[in-house]
Amino acid sequence: MKFSDIYGHADIKAKLINSATSGRVAHAQLFTSKEGALSLPMAIAFAQFLSCTDKQLEDSCGICGSCRKYAILAHPDLHFTFPFFGDAKTSCNDFIAEFRENVIKNPMLSFGDWVDAIHGEGKNLNINILEIRSIFRKLALRAYESEYKILIIWLPEFLKKEGNILLKLVEEPPDNTIFLFVTEQQSEILPTIISRTQVLKIANYSHAEIEQYLLQNELVTDVNIARNIALMAEGNLNRAVKLTGGVESPIFEMFRNWLLNCHSGNMENIFEFTDKLTEGGKDFFKIFLIYGLHIIRATMVSAHQAETNWLTPNENEFVNKLSKFIHIENVQEIYKAFNDSIFETERYGNVKLIYINLSLKLKSSMRPLVKSMATQIN
Ligand SMILES: [Zn+2]
Repeated sequence: MKFSDIYGHADIKAKLINSATSGRVAHAQLFTSKEGALSLPMAIAFAQFLSCTDKQLEDSCGICGSCRKYAILAHPDLHFTFPFFGDAKTSCNDFIAEFRENVIKNPMLSFGDWVDAIHGEGKNLNINILEIRSIFRKLALRAYESEYKILIIWLPEFLKKEGNILLKLVEEPPDNTIFLFVTEQQSEILPTIISRTQVLKIANYSHAEIEQYLLQNELVTDVNIARNIALMAEGNLNRAVKLTGGVESPIFEMFRNWLLNCHSGNMENIFEFTDKLTEGGKDFFKIFLIYGLHIIRATMVSAHQAETNWLTPNENEFVNKLSKFIHIENVQEIYKAFNDSIFETERYGNVKLIYINLSLKLKSSMRPLVKSMATQIN
């Protein structure tokens, strides 16, 4: 992966390249960002640059022996540690083929995508003691081909207290060893690890950057839709790309009908709708929920007489009516119910159960607000 394969983030790339060319590479670095900021590909591109035998001014060459091995993430001096599931005899070695395949296929890979890829729904993913021991073994060896041995630890928030075993190694690493920690939840990492690293904060993409990405890559052609998706994605490029698959589908009609059924308490219709909504799998369901949050936010904006000019005319009409039923008193609990459902979808993935639970919550949250929503929304 070259720096040029990663969208935007010119400042971060310049900083990393500068550290490498000036020979001031910190041996333990923490790349910290939110999901969808492409911090994992950034760490890989940096590692590739460090190992490249024909470095260009602003990027690795992409064609030397080292770069070719990096292209398939199979350089002998590049190691990965990441969350996985299994018994005490399982380590990242058992998942490395899937990891390489999935990162190459989608460098933006989120934790949720990873769980899906390895069928880890409902399983307890972590980084276990055996994996940490294997890190010691791998790094004890001499570098085979490049100047550095590089270990990328993706999502060190899964290390828990076992991470303390790593401290000594991070503090006094073997020669020419570099640790690149890549986190999406810095607050969950052991402070003792953070204090031993040089922190590099990677910002979310701006709405404008995401909008531009979608248009440039022709994922959408309509500027308004691109803007709408950028707002929904909240800086998460991976999410934005996935949303392009959902927004032009009849998601609005589905959402509107579902909310109507929740309000009227029509359980039969809600159950009937389960298969239709969940057949698209976890990804579609998550997009559906994110879309829901987007509409609920718009109801708040609309209630304050502010412009909701990013919505389509149909959405605007619906939002105006909906703002009578989702208001200042219940918006927080409804918002939380959606966010909880998104979180659960990412983590455990029993989509049908999450859907039914959320429907029941909405049924009770919305009911006292108005007597006859159905007639007024229609
Ligand atoms: Zn190269």
